[in-house]
Formats: sequence, C-alpha cells, structure tokens
Amino acid sequence: MCKTLAIFGGTFSPPHLGHVRAAEHFSDAVQPSRLLIVPAAIPPHKELKDGVTPEDRLEMCRLAFGHLPNVEISTVETEREGKSYTADTLSLLSQEGVRLAFLCGTDMMLTLDRWYDPARIFSLADLYCIRREDDRETEQLMQKQNDLYERLFGKRVILLDAPVYEVSSTQIRESLLTGESTRHLPPAVAEYIRKRGLYT
Ligand code: ATP
Repeated sequence: MCKTLAIFGGTFSPPHLGHVRAAEHFSDAVQPSRLLIVPAAIPPHKELKDGVTPEDRLEMCRLAFGHLPNVEISTVETEREGKSYTADTLSLLSQEGVRLAFLCGTDMMLTLDRWYDPARIFSLADLYCIRREDDRETEQLMQKQNDLYERLFGKRVILLDAPVYEVSSTQIRESLLTGESTRHLPPAVAEYIRKRGLYT
C-alpha cells in the first residue's frame, strides 16, 4: 500500500482545540506515515502587531499537536521568502510513491477554486474537509462546490465525518485582548501565551 503524507496548513495564531480535533480526525481517517503541520508565512509587520513571531507560532503548534502520531511541525512556509502558495508547497512535498492528503476547514473548502493554481492543488493531493458549522445551507453550498470541482478538476473534496467544534483564532485573540478566559486553547498553549504575554 502506498504511504500517505498528510498536510494540515494554517495561520495557527494561535492553534486552538478546533484545529487539534480536526488534525486528530484527519489522522484517524488517513492513517498517515507522516503528518505535517504547516504554519503559513505571515507578513512580519502583521505578526508583530500581536507580539507574535513565527517561532512563537511554531512552538505553539509543537505544544498543540505534539501528541499526534508521526507528527512534524514544518518550517517549509515560515522559512520561505514572501507568500507561500499551497500549490507550491504541495509541489515541494510531493514524492514518487507517496500520496499527499491535504486537510482544510469548510471556509477554505468553499473557496478552493479561487486559490492560486487550484488545478495543480487537486492533481497533487487528495483533499479532505472538516466541517466548521453544522447547518443545511453550508452543507448544500459544499455539495455545489464539490460538483463544480468535479467538473473543473475531475475530483471531489472528501468530507470527513467528525463532530463540529465551533471556534476560531480570531475569537480567541479577541478574548485574550479583553482579558477573558477561553476554554478553547490546549492548556500548554494557553500557558505559553500567558508567559510570553502574546495577543495583549
Ligand atoms: P482566523 O480566525 O485567524 O482566520 P482560524 O481559526 O480560521 O483563524 P486558521 O489557522 O486560519 O484558523 O485555520 C487553519 C485551518 O484550520 C483552515 O483550513 C481552517 O478552515 C481550519 N479550521 C480552523 N478552525 C477550525 C475549526 N474550529 N474546526 C475545523 N477546522 C478549523
């Protein structure tokens, strides 16, 4: 059987329990020989506004995802100059005899056709989606998008059967800014943020 390299990319500022649950379900579904968590490059001035460096996001990812089997936190995008396109990252990671599986949430799944070079993304990887909301309207939108992807790229996104965990990094950053507590962070990440005084 061919090996699977599973890839979960995101800004992860900060990584939260929705991300962690998503990565766990993805890993269970695809049983990867390696699971890469890929924090995206963010323009330095944006990161510094929150007092967060790329090294902080990498470290928070190590704390959040470190328990997953065969996991590796990748610097492939944070170390590359400028904006990293998923199509280029997948090209870089593709290897003879290894299947690539790429995970995204509903918001990303619905816009894949507007990403840079979507045909290359669909040809290089099997795409998986984890739902971020649980309503009929979004479900219908996803089916419609999948019909479009099948027409354009000959492939559908595989929808994972997993419970919805509704939270976003934006909500968490807002809570941290106003000093509210949040139960949606892995405890080690919450502790790291507190010690480093991030997002304040
Ligand atoms: P922000 O609020 O800053 O936009 P975010 O919470 O959407 O951040 P990202 O780092 O942008 O988090 O997301 C990385 C990936 O994880 C994306 O594919 C996104 O759709 C997915 N994702 C984010 N939150 C969840 C969640 N609660 N459940 C499932 N997938 C999620």
